Amino acid sequence: MVCRGRWPLALGTIVVLITAAACSPERGAGHGADAVPATQPEPKLIHPAFNFVEEDFAALLDGMPQQIAAAIGEDPHGFLARVLDVLDESSDLTVLVDKEHPLAEEYRPTDLVDLDTLSDELVLSRPGHRLRREATEALLEMSASAASEGITLMVSSAYRSYEYQQTVYARWVDELGAATADRVSAQPGMSQHQLGTAVDFGCICRAFADQPAGRWMLANSHRYGYSLSYPEGHEEVTGYLYEPWHFRYIGRAAAALEQEYFDGLQHYLLTFLHTHRGLLEASRP
Ligand SMILES: [Zn+2]
Repeated sequence: MVCRGRWPLALGTIVVLITAAACSPERGAGHGADAVPATQPEPKLIHPAFNFVEEDFAALLDGMPQQIAAAIGEDPHGFLARVLDVLDESSDLTVLVDKEHPLAEEYRPTDLVDLDTLSDELVLSRPGHRLRREATEALLEMSASAASEGITLMVSSAYRSYEYQQTVYARWVDELGAATADRVSAQPGMSQHQLGTAVDFGCICRAFADQPAGRWMLANSHRYGYSLSYPEGHEEVTGYLYEPWHFRYIGRAAAALEQEYFDGLQHYLLTFLHTHRGLLEASRP
């Protein structure tokens, strides 16, 4: 659930900033009847790269869970510095895809890499996996790093076309009925796998969370731009059951922003960017 209007630390920061602005030395000196009228203090920008003053910034945090709004409110300048890095990365890496924001049937990445060509460097469950170029480069680096610590990251699923999703979803509906199928499988267009940046690792099972590869991924994947999409205890928000094996490449800057300010919760980061990217872009001087 989203908690509205509960961000005391954010408010605290804003009050401090407003107070600082009010005490600015730029106030006109009123001496006598012919004194020049007091000039308004310049609005204080939170970060020089954005035209945000305090009120605009507060609106960005509206609707965020309390702990996330509090973390951001404690350090709005640092937050916007991280956001700036994300805006410099490709926006399609952080596109929001869920049950309310499906991809078009026509959406098909144009830079898919056939992972079979990298079978010397990657561990693959079967032939035929494909992944977008940038996600592949990060995967290679991540796999090498894991291997150096004795951890094997096996790629079990990557890009899935819209047509493939149709087939899989129809099979689940046959087996479980539509209501249950929706909890375990994405309807066509609603899967991050269509982006070509999501990877399922290992057994694609709950046990992965407690296996060395699962623990390693949870602790380290963000350093390579990967992020756990469906964490435990957040089914209501993400729309999907806990999937400790499913990671999405969102770029290193976005993964860092998610770790530092969004409590490692990809859904809130992607929702934030989905809602405010236009405003953030327009606010750059
Ligand atoms: Zn998956």
